Amino acid sequence: SIIDQEIGFFDIRKTGELTSRITADATVMQNTVSVNLSMGLRNLVMVVGGLALLVVSSPRLTILMLALVPPVVLAAVVAGRRLSKLSKKAQDALARANEAAEEAIAGIRTVRSFAREEAESERYGERIWESFAVSRRRVRVVAFFIGAMNLAAFGSVSGVLWFGGRMVMAGDLTVGELASFILYTLIVAMSMSALANLWSDFARARGASQRVFELMDREPLVDAGGGEMLDEVSGLIEFSMVGFAYPVRPEVKVLDAVNLRLEPGRVVALVGPSGAGKSTVAAMLLRLYDPDEGTISLDGHDIRRLDASWLRRKVGTVAQEPVLFSTAIAANIRYGRPEASDDEVEAAARAANAHDFISELPDGYETEVGERGVRLSGGQKQRVAIARALLKDPPILILDEATSSLDAESESLVQDALDRLMANRTSLVIAHRLSTVRNADRVVVLDGGRVVESGTHDELMTSDGLYRRLVSRQLVEG
Ligand code: ATP
Repeated sequence: SIIDQEIGFFDIRKTGELTSRITADATVMQNTVSVNLSMGLRNLVMVVGGLALLVVSSPRLTILMLALVPPVVLAAVVAGRRLSKLSKKAQDALARANEAAEEAIAGIRTVRSFAREEAESERYGERIWESFAVSRRRVRVVAFFIGAMNLAAFGSVSGVLWFGGRMVMAGDLTVGELASFILYTLIVAMSMSALANLWSDFARARGASQRVFELMDREPLVDAGGGEMLDEVSGLIEFSMVGFAYPVRPEVKVLDAVNLRLEPGRVVALVGPSGAGKSTVAAMLLRLYDPDEGTISLDGHDIRRLDASWLRRKVGTVAQEPVLFSTAIAANIRYGRPEASDDEVEAAARAANAHDFISELPDGYETEVGERGVRLSGGQKQRVAIARALLKDPPILILDEATSSLDAESESLVQDALDRLMANRTSLVIAHRLSTVRNADRVVVLDGGRVVESGTHDELMTSDGLYRRLVSRQLVEG
């Protein structure tokens, strides 16, 4: 369920929280269904059986015992509610602690370089302490509840002894009958106290499971499957009057009446100041978000009517800081096309100018890249990402050009690989380099979510607009 949710969902929920749901909460639930369920059933059968034997041996004494039932049930209901609420709170606090831990561990390089280890530990400590405090409140309720249950259960044994003794003296009951009655009462009492224990565990699992079920029941707002699939894709993409605000900030219009046309096999360079909405345009093309107004179409078909997974398979992306998975280089290159042969992987790596550096690594293509690819340099990661896109061989390409300057040689290697990748594909390049915009078929300038200029580099340079200012001030020479 989590992995099927739309990207907007992940803008709100944090990684640590979500992983906590599938580890901590799920473990609580697992204990309940594996151990507690069978114990619960066994004890329930013992209570019912014991009660039946009680009724058979002395209905009068049984009625006395049954007087206890209403207060016991009431206590169980009240305690159960309170427990599941507290357990939910404790699990939420635990999830927040995991969030802090995940953030600090994933960002360990930043934490270290700002010497913030202590502050991060404290943040985690505070949250785990919160979870501990709520758990302590929960345990207090459990202690009272189970104590009360045991008091009721064994109090009933004493009651039976007292009343039964009187009945024996009055001659209404034989000593043997009283002895067996007490035995049955003990069975019922012990099973009831075991049930009370389990009840508190169930209440806990119910609290923990609420968020899990919330996640499992959530329908993704952008549906991945079930739309149309086109037989052939020429790669004509049109944005018409697209308006969009991120779900977390609905009042800020990030794109406003954007019109954009990407012709098959051509390169459009998207430029604009930081925060203009360039990455947002790319995200919408991948249908990570749906527009609030207007439409985006591929070969004349509204992409909302297309199967989103199919659409994404037709689009390749190379991000500014590509994320690799912690497997071997070969597996990373194969990510978009798992069935590709070794030769195809190598050919893609060669075209991406990655083959040479890969073969120099001790394990070659089987080298593990580490989490998010930490064991590779920025330029190497990019070339692996380019090889990945080349192997996927999509008709449409989104390229987020790296701003971080690579040294001249790796930059020309990367650029060379990108040129090969862009050939004959509909490409949208979020451009930071002058050479890229010069070579693009068309340049579209975004500012504040609107398209303010568009044309070729030479055309735009003749007018005294934002583009000229950007070129002179911001775009990197190269
Ligand atoms: P840059 O060149 O700095 O990468 P950009 O032009 O690509 O910038 P976008 O990333 O598209 O800009 O962001 C456009 C606006 O949307 C910004 O104001 C940003 O704060 C906002 N924004 C971006 N991503 C999100 C998100 N996931 N949730 C909410 N707002 C967002």
